[in-house]
Amino acid sequence: MIDAYRGIAPDSVLSELSILAEALQGRTLQHVNSTRTGGGVAELLTRLVPLTTSLGIPTTWDVIMGSPSFFEVTKAMHNALQGADIEIPHTDRQLYLRTLQENAEHLHLDADVVIIHDPQPAYLIDYCPVERQRLVWRCHIDLSRPNEQVWRFLCRAVSKYAMAVFHVPQFAQRLPIPQIIIPPSIDPLSAKNRELTEEEITAVTDRFGIDRQRPILVQVSRFDRFKDPLGVIAAYRMVRQNFDCQLVLAGGDASDDPEGKQVLEEVQEAAAGDPDIFVLSLPPDSDIEINALQRAATVVLQKSTREGFGLTVTEAMWKGKPVIGGAVGGIPSQIIHGVTGFLVHSIEGAAFRLRYLLSHPRRAQRMGEQGREYVRRNFLITRHLRDYLLLMLTILHHCPKGPIRLSTSFPASQNTGSADRTCDLTSG
Ligand code: UDP
Repeated sequence: MIDAYRGIAPDSVLSELSILAEALQGRTLQHVNSTRTGGGVAELLTRLVPLTTSLGIPTTWDVIMGSPSFFEVTKAMHNALQGADIEIPHTDRQLYLRTLQENAEHLHLDADVVIIHDPQPAYLIDYCPVERQRLVWRCHIDLSRPNEQVWRFLCRAVSKYAMAVFHVPQFAQRLPIPQIIIPPSIDPLSAKNRELTEEEITAVTDRFGIDRQRPILVQVSRFDRFKDPLGVIAAYRMVRQNFDCQLVLAGGDASDDPEGKQVLEEVQEAAAGDPDIFVLSLPPDSDIEINALQRAATVVLQKSTREGFGLTVTEAMWKGKPVIGGAVGGIPSQIIHGVTGFLVHSIEGAAFRLRYLLSHPRRAQRMGEQGREYVRRNFLITRHLRDYLLLMLTILHHCPKGPIRLSTSFPASQNTGSADRTCDLTSG
């Protein structure tokens, strides 16, 4: 399987992968999360699990079960951890803990290294009879400004893990355990990201009635308030005054996100009456459709107000699109302001950058090319897998102390988007 990435991923990463895999032959890895479909974590695991196994490291993926009320509580926790001013009442915490206790009865965390993803299953560590030095907590959400009370509750569980893994350094916390930075990735060979023919792209846009002769603005996201779909509609309306463009808001459900339906209704209401806004609620197996919509886009947006990483940004950059993203969470580690796209802080800012890109198509194209190269070097699945194998070795050979960054190719300084930069990634 790994050979398929030759000529796509950097050679150095592929060489490192084979050395690390050799050292880990026969060792096992297990992932646990809270949904098999929808959202970035499921997207990643679907591809990483078979790939790791193909390297001679048998890897399994378990999903915790819970009632709708459990997922309402975990969604509230998720929102609070990303900064929302929400309290989680004692009874809700009890429901959360009870559900994890029930899950622990039939979950066997028996691999050499176990990675528990996100807050939903975090407290399994209290109920599974397992050597804690093999357990890693992997956080995929924006923890830069967590609600203190909810973080304190979660922190009690996280502190018991052997290590915590975050996407970007800004999410690291005061913890008594080592913390590692591993950004996520996309798989260039998946249905979501593979090359498509023009006919395949047009088949999808035709099916939804989208006109490829006019500019297309696209945001692909679960219908979640932190993704700010209403802000995207407002920015589009400002741009519409000068440009005859269309807006596509494509999203779907994640089984662990009960708020999606309500947000979708709000978005549909805001878009009502405008035939150039396409609000698409897609089923989970819509990878080709999403791929085609991202490729059909003139500009891709990810106007989040909180964001763990924003795989949709990576996906769009890989497809050579300039991306306008909220300057939050993991987005500034992907969008180099003025080079691969623009970071924005407001609806007006998004509209301003949209107008710029629509009126400077050559610059937009150049930014897209630079974005693709940036993703190739930093955010492909092969680099991610290499980092996980390094993590396994670190755990198996006992952890060092202190925060460690495994990925080395990030820009040296924090990219805040405060100034346009002129560096060129493709020629250097
Ligand atoms: N996605 C999808 N269908 C949708 C909406 C999103 O397949 O209707 C995918 C999207 O292409 C990306 C992932 O789900 O791969 C979303 O990851 P991201 O990190 O952007 O956000 P999250 O949903 O994890 O907050």
